Amino acid sequence: MQTQLPTELPETANFVRQVELNRTIEGVYPIAKFARLGEVLLSDEGFVTVKLEFTRSVGIASLRGKVSAQLLVECQRCLKPVETEVSGSFKFALVHSEDEFDLLPEEFEPYLLEDEEQSIIDLVEDELLLSLPMVTIHQEACSEFMSNQNEAVKTAIKAEKEAENPFAALKALKEELSNKAN
Ligand SMILES: [Zn+2]
Repeated sequence: MQTQLPTELPETANFVRQVELNRTIEGVYPIAKFARLGEVLLSDEGFVTVKLEFTRSVGIASLRGKVSAQLLVECQRCLKPVETEVSGSFKFALVHSEDEFDLLPEEFEPYLLEDEEQSIIDLVEDELLLSLPMVTIHQEACSEFMSNQNEAVKTAIKAEKEAENPFAALKALKEELSNKAN
């Protein structure tokens, strides 16, 4: 199905060139473009809001960015879909070698430029994956949670009873044997 995109943003860019142009890339990317992220989502519908500012900051080629999205994941309590607001921000210094890492002011994270063009998709995706909460559950008590839990408790009790039975049987046998001995 063809969806209407508000604006078509580039998927890759030469980050150094963007700094020279003092460019800001701002808009949305369809969630469907992020394959790795898609693996942890229940739906790839919707958009990721992105703002990337390429600029020179205290003499350092830098990329400051913000990403956010409303993502549909599985509630880890009731296993039903739950929406979660994910956002992240970052401040990268664009460096050409690892030797430059140590020279950076503390406020920057290093971003190693390995090719001429960099993937904006990968960068945004990494940030979203890093920003995903470890555990997502419904804010209010999950409607299905209690019944699921009751079911789990029943199963556990049943398993325990079954596990008890061999001992009960053994005990009965022992009693029977001692009665016979008397
Ligand atoms: Zn839930």
